[in-house]
Amino acid sequence: MILHLNEDITPEKLFEIATSHEAVGFIDQSTPKLVLSSQVKEVPESLTSFVSESFLMDSDIQLASRAYLSEKRTINIGNHTIGGNTNNTMMMAGPCSIESWQQISEVATFLKNLGIQTLRAGSFKPRTSPYSFQGLGEEGLKMLADVREEFGLNVITEVKDSSHVDLVIEYSDIVQIGTKAMYDQSILRACGKTKKPVLLKRGFGTTLQEFVQAAEFILSGGNSEVMLCERGIRTFENKTRFTLDLTGVAYLKEYTNLPVIIDPSHAMGYRYGVPDLARAAVAMGVDGLLIETHPTPEQAKSDAAQQLNFREFESLFHTLQPIANAIGKQII
Ligand code: PEP
Ligand code: MN
Repeated sequence: MILHLNEDITPEKLFEIATSHEAVGFIDQSTPKLVLSSQVKEVPESLTSFVSESFLMDSDIQLASRAYLSEKRTINIGNHTIGGNTNNTMMMAGPCSIESWQQISEVATFLKNLGIQTLRAGSFKPRTSPYSFQGLGEEGLKMLADVREEFGLNVITEVKDSSHVDLVIEYSDIVQIGTKAMYDQSILRACGKTKKPVLLKRGFGTTLQEFVQAAEFILSGGNSEVMLCERGIRTFENKTRFTLDLTGVAYLKEYTNLPVIIDPSHAMGYRYGVPDLARAAVAMGVDGLLIETHPTPEQAKSDAAQQLNFREFESLFHTLQPIANAIGKQII
């Protein structure tokens, strides 16, 4: 159950009643809120004098639910907005990892020339093997800060564990939480405390319910700017790296108020399928795409098989706008 409380409630009082009702209390866009378990079916009597509005929810998908907020939430990234009543589909593109200044500035120049505003690149890489390239860490974040400054791009970069979550929040315009970090509650809680937009990727073995519940940790921390990213789940199929769950995307669009992003690169795992999946994603009317591109993919230090070279990316990019326009959207 979600309760909107009287605006004059003090943070101390909010904390006190949240604690005594085993609830999450927070102040979001000037509305104090209390979120109780979905098992609670009536406003507790002791709270009635504080409550201005109540919402009975039938599962622990609460703040993210369209039953609570029927309008899609808005995400502000630099001078751009997605979600809400915009018709924008944001392209977030760039290499899997930041490898050098030369590499990242080449990518930034390329994207800028195409009119793309948002650069993705990881610096703390959650690799499956300890012997693989782990990313440049803080040094890479500094390069990203320089790229943002020099090219005027917004940057999205990922957090791998809680030891550097505050650093990543500080350097990024959008914080990415990856498929393996999705269950890390210290990351989720830290992202709840910031006002930076968060792109939360679905764990590759995560149900839709668990995925949205992870988003609830961030929302109930007080950060309303959360995007859900489908990046492929693990199925019996092993010819492709993962299976892009577009049916799950349809569910998220129907039942949640969070903008939805599709990442075809990690789902496919091979560059040959990425353009088709990207076009399918745009046709579904999602709010954004996350696509890996690298100046020389065959030499990439991570995810070499799936990154598009510039020529491949550019020819894909030119096919997306007409598809977006056909369903009343535009690529930004
Ligand atoms: C990435 O975006 O490079 C990445 C590691 O993604 P995921 O967490 O989806 O594997
Ligand atoms: Mn990658």
